[in-house]
Amino acid sequence: MENSFAEQGRWRDIDNLLSRPGNIVGPGFEPSPQLRQEIGEFARVLVVGAGGLGCELLKDLALSGFPNIDVIDMDTIEISNLNRQFLFRLQDVGKSKAEVAAKRVMERVSGVNITPHFCRIEDKEINFYNDFNIIVLGLDSIEARSYINSVACTFLEFDSEDNPIPETIKAMVDGGTEGFKGHARVILPGMTPCFECTIWLFPPQVKYPLCTLAETPRTPAHCIEYAHLIKWSEVHSGKAFDPDDPEHMQWVYTQALKRAELFGIAGVTYSLTQGVVKNIIPAIASTNAIISATCALEALKLVSGCSKTLSNYMTYNGVVGTHIKVADFVRETDCLVCGPGTLIDLDISTTLSQFIEILGQHPKLLVMKSSITHRGTNLYMQSPPILEEMTRPNLHLPLHELMGGVPDDTIHASGMAVRDGKKTSCLRKLRVKFKGLPDGTTEMGTTSVCKELEPDLN
Ligand SMILES: [Zn+2]
Repeated sequence: MENSFAEQGRWRDIDNLLSRPGNIVGPGFEPSPQLRQEIGEFARVLVVGAGGLGCELLKDLALSGFPNIDVIDMDTIEISNLNRQFLFRLQDVGKSKAEVAAKRVMERVSGVNITPHFCRIEDKEINFYNDFNIIVLGLDSIEARSYINSVACTFLEFDSEDNPIPETIKAMVDGGTEGFKGHARVILPGMTPCFECTIWLFPPQVKYPLCTLAETPRTPAHCIEYAHLIKWSEVHSGKAFDPDDPEHMQWVYTQALKRAELFGIAGVTYSLTQGVVKNIIPAIASTNAIISATCALEALKLVSGCSKTLSNYMTYNGVVGTHIKVADFVRETDCLVCGPGTLIDLDISTTLSQFIEILGQHPKLLVMKSSITHRGTNLYMQSPPILEEMTRPNLHLPLHELMGGVPDDTIHASGMAVRDGKKTSCLRKLRVKFKGLPDGTTEMGTTSVCKELEPDLN
């Protein structure tokens, strides 16, 4: 009896919010005392990441009236997580973050069903992600964000005038924190800038000029990077530095300390050495709480329409005082990821393997080792081995034939691309158009004709 009273009380404020009209509501909002129930029946939310942001997000979403949540994370719990990832206990160390987080929230909030997925985001079929109304990202890596973003954008379809079709827009809410700073943003592919449209917002990693490290160190980090980048290879010729080997880390720390003493610089500690070498930014529990709360609220606004959503990028800065700013970024109309797709002209005789080669050399794409999908059918898969073997015979067939003889259509290629010298998984949407079709629509490739007519300069 007491329990059910507590349960009713739990939803009182949410129900107030959802059952009353107002002048700041979003478009199409229909207040109703049953709205929370209705949202519960249709809304499925995926939380990507069960770490600092993920723990907060799961709790916030569960308490905001979302009864059907999935969470995906490949990590296991470490002792250093326990200061802020509050769903985890000492006895959970070594277990899956997603599984423990799901269990803990379900123990505390009755009626909520959280399905954990203990795996890499790339391990799931693309269609797994299509089952969700909203994808909420609580990640700390640019690569993972970029991947989920490209997955969500593959569901986006355009009409004949290149306007996004509303039912195919997969809403994303992205949160991120770095120490005292954080951001929250709403991404509606095709409407607001996707992650890739604004990739420049993420500054490249801090790198110090080698001459500063070698000659004029001024900070403890300079001394640490000197020991890590210069001294290590001088002393250990050929032996690679392993940041996860405590002996290696201790060696760098000792060397950095010596260097700091030489230049009269204070502040080199073992944990700072770890932080600089592994590029670790201290995590602040309160920043995670603020950013996750913002994201959970945006998710509620997106599904219910009870208020207008953030448009479209909020930054929080708690370094000096508190500063919150909202910026309305615009979409890149020719974005490779959220646009209608890169146009590729092909001959009807182009085989699938030639097509894969073209993708690797295309200056805008540079996608290596592509797996190719057309309308949900795997034309060629690089892995797992069994699928590779099954789809291998297609490599020598013309792509035009494999696509059922259509004059043009969308193709998805997933493979590896290089960004900042690092290989990352990527997914690209391509609009393939065949030339040389027999019905008279053939166009002469004027550029290639000109090239052939160019005088030989030898
Ligand atoms: Zn974009």
